[in-house]
Amino acid sequence: MRAEPTRQLRLLDLQAVDTRLDQIAHAKRTLPQLAELADLEGKARLIDDQLVRSRTELDDVQREVARAESDVQLVRDRAARDQARLDAGTGTAKDLQAIQHELASLARRQSDLEEVELEVMERAEAAEHDVRELERGRSELTERIRALEAARDEALARLDAEAGQVAAPRDRLVGDVGEDLVTLYEKIRAGSGGMGAAELRQRRCGGCQLDINPVELQRLRSAPEDEVLRCEECRRILVRTAESGL
Ligand SMILES: [Zn+2]
Repeated sequence: MRAEPTRQLRLLDLQAVDTRLDQIAHAKRTLPQLAELADLEGKARLIDDQLVRSRTELDDVQREVARAESDVQLVRDRAARDQARLDAGTGTAKDLQAIQHELASLARRQSDLEEVELEVMERAEAAEHDVRELERGRSELTERIRALEAARDEALARLDAEAGQVAAPRDRLVGDVGEDLVTLYEKIRAGSGGMGAAELRQRRCGGCQLDINPVELQRLRSAPEDEVLRCEECRRILVRTAESGL
C-alpha cells in the first residue's frame, strides 16, 4: 500500500487518540467502586434474606404471645367468676367447696400459663432485637451503597468528559489518514490489542518493542517514503519519523 508520509504521520496521532480512548474505556470498566459495589450488594442480598426469615420468626412468636395471653386471660376470667360466686355465698356448702377446689386448681393452671407466657415474651423480645439489628445493618449498608454509587457516577462522568475531549479530533484525523490506510489500521488494531500502527524509533518497532534486524533494516532504508511498511514481527504498520534511526 502507498500513502504519503504526512498521512502516515497522522496515523500515529490517530493511534494515540485510540490508545487513550481504550485506556479510558478500560478505566470505566475497572473502576474500584464497581468491585466494592458488587461486594456490598452481595452483602445486602444476604441481609435481606435474613430479614425475611427474622420477620417471619417474629410474626410467629408474636402470634404465640397473643395465644399465651388469651390462655391466661381465660383462666383469670374463670377464676374471677368463681370468686364472685364464692363471695356471693349462694349455693350449698358442697358447691362452695367445689368452687374453692376449682379456684386452687385454676391458680396452679394460671401460674403454669404465666410461665409459658413469660418464656414466649422473652423469645419475642429476642426476635424483635434481631430484626432491629438487621434493619440497622441494612440501612447502614444502603447509605454506603448510595455513597459509592455517587462516587462511581462522578468518576464515570469525569471519564466520559475526558473521552469526549480526546475523541474530538478523531474524525478529522481519520479524514487526514484516508480510508484505505484507516481500514488497514483498524483491521490490524482489532487483532493486535488495540495497536494497529507504531512508530519506527531508533531502529525498533514501537508496537512489539523488538529491534529491526539488519537485513530488514536495509530493506526499510531503501523503501520509498510513501510505502506503507509493516513490522516483520508483529505485522503492525511501521511509521517512519525523524527518530527512526535509518
Ligand atoms: Zn513490531
